[in-house]
Amino acid sequence: ESFTDMNLHASTMKDIAFHGYTTPTSIQAQAMPVALSGRDLLGCAETGSGKTAAFTIPMIQHCLAQPPIRRGDGPLALVLAPTRELAQQIEKELGGLKNKVVKNEAKSFAFNVMRVKYLDGNFSCSSTELILSFVKLDIIYELFSASFMSLCTRYYVDHCILSYKVKAFSRSLDSFKTAIVVGGTNISEQRSELRAGVSIVVATPGRFIDHLQQGNTSLLRISFVILDEADRMLDMGFEPQIREVMQNIPKKHQTLLFSATMPVEIEELAQEYFTDPVRIKV
Ligand code: AMP
Repeated sequence: ESFTDMNLHASTMKDIAFHGYTTPTSIQAQAMPVALSGRDLLGCAETGSGKTAAFTIPMIQHCLAQPPIRRGDGPLALVLAPTRELAQQIEKELGGLKNKVVKNEAKSFAFNVMRVKYLDGNFSCSSTELILSFVKLDIIYELFSASFMSLCTRYYVDHCILSYKVKAFSRSLDSFKTAIVVGGTNISEQRSELRAGVSIVVATPGRFIDHLQQGNTSLLRISFVILDEADRMLDMGFEPQIREVMQNIPKKHQTLLFSATMPVEIEELAQEYFTDPVRIKV
């Protein structure tokens, strides 16, 4: 199966192209359609197989379909990984994908507003501050490089950005934040980030449970869980923390587990917490 057949969000398709991925790896071809269909999954896959994108992309599609996060809300999706390094790597890949989702949404929205306004001949202006804030997102550069921009005035851009900001910026950009929650880093920074409300948390199990116990985050809105390198998490003694999460998240949820090996402890976890999982081996 190709990425095109997977019915992904248009901006995700652009992100995939941007990453230079032309064809899905074996784990992606097998796991993504299953994950996108809402089924639970047990994937036997090693690092280097492309498993990060295999779970990150379906997770983003899932989150984009949920009502936005408000201040104080717990996350929509949780990724548990055994080590700080792995969690950071996942968050980096996620950050790349998710930021481009937002940028592409902003861009296509702005283009559409501009096209309509231009056809209307209805120009108006507002503050250049808004333009400056968007320069950060590389959007302005892309807007000005469009050929029909030569027909437009600067005020015009200003106006479409304001419209964008009001209509869409608050929805997708503000609501789509991710946090990385690992040991050995500043806990109070993580606390304020979590309390502000994030869509996705990528965490090591111990530190995540610390935050839960301190009331900095909650399991109430979690509907998508990823257990990455599950065998290593069990080897490191994180089984109680994993169970704590799985037992207390809302009933309606989807779980994806990836592991290099499938020891009996993982089979037991799957028996208890997974719903009729699809098994994949690469
Ligand atoms: P992972 O197994 O997730 O650590 O990914 C291993 C490497 O493969 C990473 O550097 C990814 O950027 C890269 N990768 C993942 N999916 C693809 C793909 N479909 N085409 C080419 N490279 C990929």
